[in-house]
Amino acid sequence: MELLQNKILEEGKVLSESVLKVDSFLNHQIDPKLMLEIGEEFARLFTTEGITKILTLESSGIAPSVMTGLKLGIPVIFARKRKSLTLTDDLLTANVYSYTKQESNEISISNKFIQPEDCVLIIDDFLANGEAALGLIDLVTQAKATVAGIGIVIEKSFQVGGQKLREQGWRVESLARVESLSNGKVTFVNDKVEETI
Ligand code: 5GP
Repeated sequence: MELLQNKILEEGKVLSESVLKVDSFLNHQIDPKLMLEIGEEFARLFTTEGITKILTLESSGIAPSVMTGLKLGIPVIFARKRKSLTLTDDLLTANVYSYTKQESNEISISNKFIQPEDCVLIIDDFLANGEAALGLIDLVTQAKATVAGIGIVIEKSFQVGGQKLREQGWRVESLARVESLSNGKVTFVNDKVEETI
């Protein structure tokens, strides 16, 4: 998605060889217009899958998920990273090792929002080692529902998550695929293709 790639090039900050900061449009301040375009793109990519619900992880997955839910006309559920006092229903939980925080979180959802007949699209902001996506897949599986696929805003292709999920047979669609963050510079997987044309 060219618009997203350009935004990453203009505003993304390379914090290290493996961490990209995009807090001006996705992780802190949010660009609603870009989120709407992202939602339209996910809706277009997954329109034929018979999706009934979207599942994401708080907090940065919520904005792109809501826009996708708006386009597909379906509800969005976000898994919580901390137990809330108001989350009193029966919970489904999974353990996720956080890449950026370097700690394990128990993520949870109320079991009333995903039923066995649901077909669920999982959305997240970043894909690194695949821990968050696998935790969300675990929750859908515990609910005995179907995973339609995984929509990722920014995949870091030099980390193992994308390969791991695709090898397990999941459909993964990433709107920007970062090939490298070396030397403080973002390069995308498709940059190479363009250069050889
Ligand atoms: P994974 O679970 O695939 O290892 O990592 C994905 C999760 O870690 C995402 O939910 C995202 O919040 C966070 N994350 C991983 N890499 C980055 C990164 O380079 N930048 C930011 N802002 N978040 C990241």
